[in-house]
Amino acid sequence: MFFPAFAQAKEEQDVIYEKRMELYKKAETVSLIPWYYFAAIDQYERNIRQVRRDIPKAEGVLGIYIKPQIWAGPLNKDKNDTNPFTISQFGGLGIDGNGDGMADRNDDEDVIFAIARYLQSYGTDHEHIKIALWDYYQRSKTVDLILGKGRIYKKYGTLKLDEHAFPLPLYANYSYKNTWGDARGWGGRRIHEGTDIFAGYGVPVRSTCYGIVELKGWNKYGGWRIGIRDINNTYHYFAHLNGFASYLREGQIVEPGMIIGSVGSSGYGPPGTSGKFPPHLHYGMYKDNGYTEWSFDPYPHLKYWEREEKWKKRK
Ligand SMILES: [Zn+2]
Repeated sequence: MFFPAFAQAKEEQDVIYEKRMELYKKAETVSLIPWYYFAAIDQYERNIRQVRRDIPKAEGVLGIYIKPQIWAGPLNKDKNDTNPFTISQFGGLGIDGNGDGMADRNDDEDVIFAIARYLQSYGTDHEHIKIALWDYYQRSKTVDLILGKGRIYKKYGTLKLDEHAFPLPLYANYSYKNTWGDARGWGGRRIHEGTDIFAGYGVPVRSTCYGIVELKGWNKYGGWRIGIRDINNTYHYFAHLNGFASYLREGQIVEPGMIIGSVGSSGYGPPGTSGKFPPHLHYGMYKDNGYTEWSFDPYPHLKYWEREEKWKKRK
């Protein structure tokens, strides 16, 4: 099957990725700070923008949003100042990156060069960049998320990391249905935050995305479980596992289809408890907006990834 609209959207997305990469590389050239730091900051800010209403939509290809008073300078009476000279006098972040005489916070080049110069003022090595990020965001979780994304971009050398995989191998015997929000009597949760995929003990469980293992261990309800944060700031949660892949570590970078553990029935008791319910993978997806985290229905995504993998196999 072929979907022209889908193919076109993908092509447009590729053009956007190229334009972004061009900007990151330019910033790298002038600042000597590796491109993947810019990519990571930009991606973090894009993720936040998508789920926040208090930040305007991006106009260019970058997602970075710099508040007017930060751009123009805290004491600058003209919050929309575009004069590079007065902005610099007031200690604003804004600069004229593209040489058109204006420091415009809606111009991608001005924005990326302003960020580059800000980071560079701390130093160009990892430790100094980390301090610069801490001073800017004042939240260690944000700094961790950005540096994590940076590591993923560095490893793969591309921005195209949107690929996903179904959590179980398609050859396995499994079944699942849409149970989003089903009431649960036990577990202390009001609704069921995920999809249960029933399969036999030991069926491999695979990473659904490019991301970083943020959590690996035991939880009273989830049993042996794994949490993976992807490049779009979505948190993928795998619970009731039989065990983990021997090589899997917290902080490790994973990719779609990589085996992370196997299906089990662990949970609902002290570490090691299992067999209180039929073996299945509980798969959940979460988003966060910089303040709070909430779950959303993984079922449509699972259906989509499953179908996509079937098409690929047929080709
Ligand atoms: Zn479940």
